[in-house]
Amino acid sequence: MSTKILLIEDEEKLARFVELELSYEGYLVTKAFDGRSGLALAETGEFDLVLLDIMLPELSGMEVLRRIRRKSSIPVIMLTARDSIEDKVAGLDRGADDYLTKPFAIEELLARIRTALRKKAAVTESQVLSACGVQMDVARHSVTVNDIPVELTKREFDLLHYLLKNKGIVLSRDTLMDNVWDYDFDGETNAVDVYIRFLRSKIDEAFDVKLIHTIRGVGYVIKDEQ
Ligand code: CA
Repeated sequence: MSTKILLIEDEEKLARFVELELSYEGYLVTKAFDGRSGLALAETGEFDLVLLDIMLPELSGMEVLRRIRRKSSIPVIMLTARDSIEDKVAGLDRGADDYLTKPFAIEELLARIRTALRKKAAVTESQVLSACGVQMDVARHSVTVNDIPVELTKREFDLLHYLLKNKGIVLSRDTLMDNVWDYDFDGETNAVDVYIRFLRSKIDEAFDVKLIHTIRGVGYVIKDEQ
């Protein structure tokens, strides 16, 4: 299966050139010429890597990156015309995997792409999160408690994933809402409490473990202890 690359770049000449070179290397390239349509494509989850220009119409590259990172750990390489250290720091802070200043040599871009994809493969293989006998295999999208499989809905899985990723850290309802629910979800934050109850009935109560702790007035935390 070919590796799928999403190229979000408003300079059409450059985009066509990069597309041609990447296709020649065997990558499948999809182009978007503005931030909004690029983000929509990124959110389909169909791509293996994103090349993201910073100066984009409609939605800036930084904003696109911020929104991608709410839901996905897909490798993102930022492309920019400005060789500014602030941009670089801001991009890497927001979860960009790498950063390339235009004009760049195509060989340099290819090398960066290979590195980012290798790192992603290594992470995917080892992404098993655990606490209190609960094991989550992120790549396989499966959860077991004491080796017994547990069926979770997508939302329950995403919520448990976020809690496990941040094991030991107390997370407020707002933080959980922002990171597990859609960006523009404007419902009540008690949706968090409802899904915590679902998880507890499927895990804590069903298996008699103490996985999810309530910190009164603050939020929730997963602790790795019995
Ligand atoms: Ca641009």
